[in-house]
Amino acid sequence: MDPKYIFVTGGVTSSLGKGIICSSLGLLLATRGLRVTIQKLDPYINVDPGTMNPYEHGEVYVTDDGAETDLDLGHYERFLGIPTSQENNVTTGRIYYDVINKERKGEYLGQTVQVIPHITDEIKSRVKRIGDSGKYDIIIVEIGGTVGDIEGLPYIEAMRQLRYDVGRDNVTSIHLTLVPYLKAAGELKTKPTQHSVKTIYQLGLQPEILVCRTEVPLDAGIRRKIANFCNVSDEDVIASLDARSIYEVPLLMKKEKLDQRVLKKLRIRAGAPDLSEWSRFVHAVTYPDHQIRIALVGKYVDHQDAYLSIVEAFKHAGAVNNCEIDLVWISSDHLDEQKVAEKLKDVSGILVAPGFGGRGVEGKLAAIRYARENRIPFFGICLGMQCALIEFSRNVCKWEDADSTEFNEDTTHPVVDLMLEQKTIDDKGGTMRLGAYECALEKGSNAGKAYSASKIIERHRHRYEMNNRFREEMSANGLMITGVNPERDLVEIVELKDHPWFVGVQFHPELKSTVRKPHPLFVSFVKAAFRYASDNNKVEPASGSASASKR
Ligand code: GLN
Repeated sequence: MDPKYIFVTGGVTSSLGKGIICSSLGLLLATRGLRVTIQKLDPYINVDPGTMNPYEHGEVYVTDDGAETDLDLGHYERFLGIPTSQENNVTTGRIYYDVINKERKGEYLGQTVQVIPHITDEIKSRVKRIGDSGKYDIIIVEIGGTVGDIEGLPYIEAMRQLRYDVGRDNVTSIHLTLVPYLKAAGELKTKPTQHSVKTIYQLGLQPEILVCRTEVPLDAGIRRKIANFCNVSDEDVIASLDARSIYEVPLLMKKEKLDQRVLKKLRIRAGAPDLSEWSRFVHAVTYPDHQIRIALVGKYVDHQDAYLSIVEAFKHAGAVNNCEIDLVWISSDHLDEQKVAEKLKDVSGILVAPGFGGRGVEGKLAAIRYARENRIPFFGICLGMQCALIEFSRNVCKWEDADSTEFNEDTTHPVVDLMLEQKTIDDKGGTMRLGAYECALEKGSNAGKAYSASKIIERHRHRYEMNNRFREEMSANGLMITGVNPERDLVEIVELKDHPWFVGVQFHPELKSTVRKPHPLFVSFVKAAFRYASDNNKVEPASGSASASKR
């Protein structure tokens, strides 16, 4: 079978949840036995989101092969359960970068280099490269932004052309739109959808299926009206009602027959979708028996997309442990030794988040000290682990000015320092230690038990590391090094001797937690937090509402 392409565009507003719709459709098709992948085309000029601040872009998702990508790739992996790579995310910056490099090398043989055909050809080649790899039956191509944006035009044009290049039977196009409900009028309004579809038509692309985000169900009359004005059949008007959890969306899309309509357009026969395992997971996430509180200490607590994969990993681990995690977001900027007990008194676990720069570090140290001294389960991720090392050095080893050279270059105890190869790097984009690296685990440690393996592979994104110069002395004081990168002898996991569950990891476990494979460290952390909560009378009945997630 030729590879088939599904283009997904969005209209009316941003944040309609295109990534979730693509992931849900991908899952429905994959459970029918098709080999599916999803590619995200991002119209911004950054070469990748790696240099963007979390307020701008939310979390930067890192793939095994070390690409810094859009957070939608995290959804693709969590839903489909298969790893993405560099190829799954393309930005305008990357496209121009490559075209200009080719131009400098003389590869265009003296031609004038233009948006059409050179930029559009480069976009198409990125999409076709995945199709031609032979690895997939279906490539879902999500076009970022909203139809009508100036920077999105080359992508729509490239998709229009691609339809002819790969054969019209091998392509279908879905448009995600908003059908707002006007309370005052007591009516659903279709005009924004009509306008948005008209805009794509003017650009030469014809959406064959409309997915309509709506707060209230679409009745037959409204479906008819949308179909009529937008030149699709009634069955191709799919309602996407607000869901309690993003994980419920595949079930809703199945009910609306989105996958069936797509298969029909692409002329594919495939088996029936099997969502029984998925439904069990959705039930476990939605109706757990218990609830516990876990603090998430970080700098961007007013912008929760900054920690998206951590939030999702907690949902997966919560489902395994039959408990809902009420995440208490604590701003590290507003935390100190005085306030820490008051702010953390109700929680049964403390996670200190990844991050860059010195702002909020003192607050993180206060939270870690509180967890260590009160034997509350603690999980430190990347900067969270580095802070645990600083806290331990200052308060246990009594090295008062111990620090990371990221925050204090003149410290006499640089317990966290730049990695050797980082010392000569000035460029900021794509230059960290990125992607998958091996880690050997200490048998019998909490990490070793959680994974029940001796070697693991996890994803990284950092420039600093634990300074091996202090390993011996810190170990003598009770720090345990329970995970090490064998190739370079870099410390990857630390734990504490006299603590029930205190684990700091240099890598990002949250990036590999999926619905089918909840991450073992998150599962083990939640289990430890649950035990702490049981011992301290902090387990509550589940509210059933905290699992309602924004989309
Ligand atoms: N700023 C730290 C470093 O570069 C930690 C990075 C992170 O938490 N991802 O090493």
